[in-house]
Amino acid sequence: MPRHLLDLGPDDLSALFVAWGEPRYRASQVARWALKRGVTTFDAMTDLPAALRVRLNEEFTLAAPPLLTSTVTDDGATTKALLGLGNGDSVETVRMAYDSEDPEAFGRATVCVSTQVGCAMGCVFCATGQQGFTRNLTPAEILAQVLHFTREGRATNVVFMGMGEPLANTSATLAAVRWMIHADGLDLRARGITISTVGLRTGIHRLAAEGLQVGLTISLHAPDDDLRRRLIPTAGGTTIDELVAAAREYIEATGRRVTFAYALLDGVNDSEEQARLLASRIRGIQAHVNLIPYNPTAGTGLRRPSRDRVRAFHRVLQAEGINATVRVERGVEIAAACGQLRTDYVQRQSLTLV
Ligand code: SAH
Ligand code: SF4
Repeated sequence: MPRHLLDLGPDDLSALFVAWGEPRYRASQVARWALKRGVTTFDAMTDLPAALRVRLNEEFTLAAPPLLTSTVTDDGATTKALLGLGNGDSVETVRMAYDSEDPEAFGRATVCVSTQVGCAMGCVFCATGQQGFTRNLTPAEILAQVLHFTREGRATNVVFMGMGEPLANTSATLAAVRWMIHADGLDLRARGITISTVGLRTGIHRLAAEGLQVGLTISLHAPDDDLRRRLIPTAGGTTIDELVAAAREYIEATGRRVTFAYALLDGVNDSEEQARLLASRIRGIQAHVNLIPYNPTAGTGLRRPSRDRVRAFHRVLQAEGINATVRVERGVEIAAACGQLRTDYVQRQSLTLV
């Protein structure tokens, strides 16, 4: 299998063409074909010298993963796609076009990308976590998810909230981010990109050191360490205080606000007392809490709290001076929570196999 050209970052691509004795502008020319126009063959790059196209064809590929299945809902505003990666592996990606009723979101089109096939973190409420870990995605496979949508339409924002833990695959995640924000690449604003992590501190440090203006979301889900370890069995020795310290470091390094994600699970982490405890843990830093009413997945036995309980939790945070929002439900009909489309697909496949 030849290497995928988009596994090379912007610097690597420039170095490659320098090594091949090509003019400086070649990297920019090729990147623009591959990322802005989304072509999937070198032969489509009609302004390249024929000999260079032959050489690229010999050493690299630009093939796009095939679309296995796709679902559209919310009157066409949400599209979920499952892309095939070979060896029976697949990965899901979602595009959410926000409606014009929210002035802040006007014109926005957000792609939610995956970074791994499965996930090793094992969060008890997460469909991906329950599937276990298969493998990391390459930079090209991460970019392919955004390209899938930009070929036909637009993408203004990217959130790393699909399958997998981006900071357990930091190098590929960063390589993909570099093309997303590069002028010859997708040319997105770094501020329009958000990386969501279960809270891997080394990855957060590394991201802070990159000096990118990328947004960071830390999945907290509990106001105390015991409960957090039960919900995220691999959270291990990392405490909430340490995560708050890592968030503070990120804010200082980037000037960006950090978001804490909190999946609300009925009767588990959604009491008013827990809201007060949460507020006391994160008070005093430039943080925002994103409350995500749980999207039930088969077999977990966990439930979504009632609207009243969600509202009560939200009110306590606000009364305690914590900036908080409740995530707008999108694509609920097609189960937009991470991992679910693939689960359904895999289950359908195995049913036909039996
Ligand atoms: N691994 C990263 C990013 C992918 S998960 C992380 O955990 O942050 C993206 C977000 O979806 C996380 O905040 C995760 O906790 C949340 N999530 C996963 N399954 C969910 C479900 N069934 N209902 C609601 N939120 C869920
Ligand atoms: Fe992995 Fe995130 Fe799911 Fe946890 S919530 S299992 S870290 S994808």
